[in-house]
Amino acid sequence: MDAITQRTTSGRGRLYDSILETIGNTPVIRVNNLAPDGVRLYVKAEFFNPAASVKDRLALNIIETAERTGALKPGQTIVEATSGNTGIGLAMVCAQKGYPLVVTMADSFSVERRRLMRMFGAKVVLTPRSEKGTGMYMKAVELAETHGWFLARQFETEANADIHEATTAREIIGDFAGDRLDHVVMGYGTGGTVAGIARVLRKERPETRIVLSEPANAQLIASGIVQKRGPDGSPAESHSAFEPHPIQGWTPDFIPNVLQEVIDTGGFDDLVPVTGAEGMAWARKLARQEGILTGVSGGASFAVAMGIAERAQPGTVILAMLPDTGERYLTTPLFEDIPEDMDDEEKALSESTPGYRLG
Ligand code: PMP
Repeated sequence: MDAITQRTTSGRGRLYDSILETIGNTPVIRVNNLAPDGVRLYVKAEFFNPAASVKDRLALNIIETAERTGALKPGQTIVEATSGNTGIGLAMVCAQKGYPLVVTMADSFSVERRRLMRMFGAKVVLTPRSEKGTGMYMKAVELAETHGWFLARQFETEANADIHEATTAREIIGDFAGDRLDHVVMGYGTGGTVAGIARVLRKERPETRIVLSEPANAQLIASGIVQKRGPDGSPAESHSAFEPHPIQGWTPDFIPNVLQEVIDTGGFDDLVPVTGAEGMAWARKLARQEGILTGVSGGASFAVAMGIAERAQPGTVILAMLPDTGERYLTTPLFEDIPEDMDDEEKALSESTPGYRLG
């Protein structure tokens, strides 16, 4: 080996029987350049999951739970309404296990999400953005009832918070064992992540403050307005505090049943609004100054974590969840200012030597 190479690796010490075994055990990573002095700031990087988001965990658990209970029959088609990451996770799991998958999704979500699902072999049925989250959900219900398909029900199923209790939360407990952990920061889509983390941390790390965030222009929880639901817990109507917001994957136009548990049991200590613009600004800073590429929701959680860090006592330890990869946003406003062609500085660099110039 080259004498100046210091770093060595030795593999993971095991062979994986399928892509599904690589889900979970995502790393908690220190933020060095952006963190204020004296505060330790960490992120849990869910883009290390095989289909690059936190939802791989839920996708696997929904399907394996339904296999065990018999709710899902061999070869039966699975259908789900999703803003993207759940669909991508389900598409990966279905590809490996051989189930057909149909996803319903409002046509407002990023185009790369649709194409990724189709790459994994899923069918994507688009619904009008004017009908919001409720529209895509009702379409999935309609399709399941008409065709006798298995509806994954990420917003209501026990399998959602359960997997975060059994994996995401346990990983946090393990990685911070013997160390301080003062704040854990995240938003909610279904609320599965926060519900699972709250169940475990309330018991085992009662000193940790659970900080929940929601978009500044769609503060459903802060409004205090109770969600109307049907007998199965599904939303009966769109929540009146909802407005469309740019934090994809966060805050649908209703309070999901999975999240309701967190509200009813006092599963969070602080509720902090954040704007989409702040989320994008911090996602860009994480990429540029830390080499950490995450989406808008990760940037939004990180923005809230930075707000806490700036006012915190020295020694404070903060963890922010980063639900997915920034690559999922190439066609969205997150990358709006990132040009495809050379800018003036790059052109000047090209012209600063004689060879290999373009045009
Ligand atoms: N961020 C993104 C990008 C997501 O796709 C999701 C899941 N919809 C979340 C955050 C929120 O996760 P959860 O559903 O567990 O609340």
